Amino acid sequence: MSKMSLEGIEQAMLDDLRHRVVEVARGLFENKLVVSTFGVVSTRIPKTDCVLVTPSGFSKARLDKDNLIIVDLDANLVQGKFRPSVETPLHTYIHKRRPELSTVIHTHSPMACAFAAANREIPCVSAEQAFHLGGRIPIVRKYSLPGTTERTELENIVKALENIDAVLMRKHGVVVVGRTPEEALDTAIVLEDIATIALHSIVLSRPIEFSRRELKYLKDFKKTRYGQKLGTT
Ligand SMILES: [Zn+2]
Repeated sequence: MSKMSLEGIEQAMLDDLRHRVVEVARGLFENKLVVSTFGVVSTRIPKTDCVLVTPSGFSKARLDKDNLIIVDLDANLVQGKFRPSVETPLHTYIHKRRPELSTVIHTHSPMACAFAAANREIPCVSAEQAFHLGGRIPIVRKYSLPGTTERTELENIVKALENIDAVLMRKHGVVVVGRTPEEALDTAIVLEDIATIALHSIVLSRPIEFSRRELKYLKDFKKTRYGQKLGTT
């Protein structure tokens, strides 16, 4: 048990965060990014060194707010009646190294996993990928077993996430990060979509990847021309 205290945390904020984590976990299930009891969602509780994480062995379809567990950044239990996911050390390590992030998601989404199993990066062959993720989806440098707590292996995953919000873990799955729980879910959905496009394009032909110049254009385009500006209609 951790000595970390939850004193002073606004209960309404924590309750809202629990609700959002459950919604994101359901979203993973509904979008077929996780099956059975696989997949993990973890969210940093603002202004604390604590993380909300999904329990081990639960289907994401029947998750409830009260089933979530709170752990500290060393993956020690702070609050909760169930065991946290076996991938909790991976999640808390990323939260520790990337405090600006809100949420880490781990899935075994099938098309992205096909690339991970084949030990191949996802080439950037669709505008969706270039636009949303900004380039190739890298693969973590070395293989690590599920549930790893090895610092060097966890550091490899953090390193792979340096310039992109999604990475592939060899023979295993994907890790996606976001600045909000909803952003992380959106990226997990987009990742599976772009993996599907890339895989089919490779089956059909030898697709040409986006060039550096095109990627830069799309990055600027996203920043300056896409979506709505706050304060305008
Ligand atoms: Zn896994």
